[in-house]
Amino acid sequence: MGSNKEKIRFELNKEFRFEAAHRLYKNYSGKCSNNHGHSWHVIVNIEGMELDESDILIDFNDLKPLKKWINEFLDHTTILWENDPMVEYIKESNQRLFITKKSPSSEHLAEVILAKAMELFNNDRIKVKYIEVKESCTSGAKVYPIS
Ligand SMILES: [Zn+2]
Repeated sequence: MGSNKEKIRFELNKEFRFEAAHRLYKNYSGKCSNNHGHSWHVIVNIEGMELDESDILIDFNDLKPLKKWINEFLDHTTILWENDPMVEYIKESNQRLFITKKSPSSEHLAEVILAKAMELFNNDRIKVKYIEVKESCTSGAKVYPIS
């Protein structure tokens, strides 16, 4: 017991979904430069070496604050780069808007959600390993913190 025990690492996933429009306007001229919508999937992956007193990494219910943040800030919005001229139109139309510092690609949305997830969930025992953002069943991006 103890000294020859293999070290193991645990991971768990939780998936959330939201609906939103976006377009790639910054230095981009493909068809995704047109405003269009996705049913986005967000996968948060949590890792840790030790389970808690209940022998779990984290209660799936305790990941709900991220879902709440997504619902409040991203769901049924138009997601636009801060310098996109469409920002003014969406504001004037009193439509829900989420403004990003970089182009609102899957990569950057994963980066934005990662920052929030780390703020919500990282502690001495567990860490957010990655966030995956999928804009369709076949296309997505993952972002990992580098420590
Ligand atoms: Zn898209």
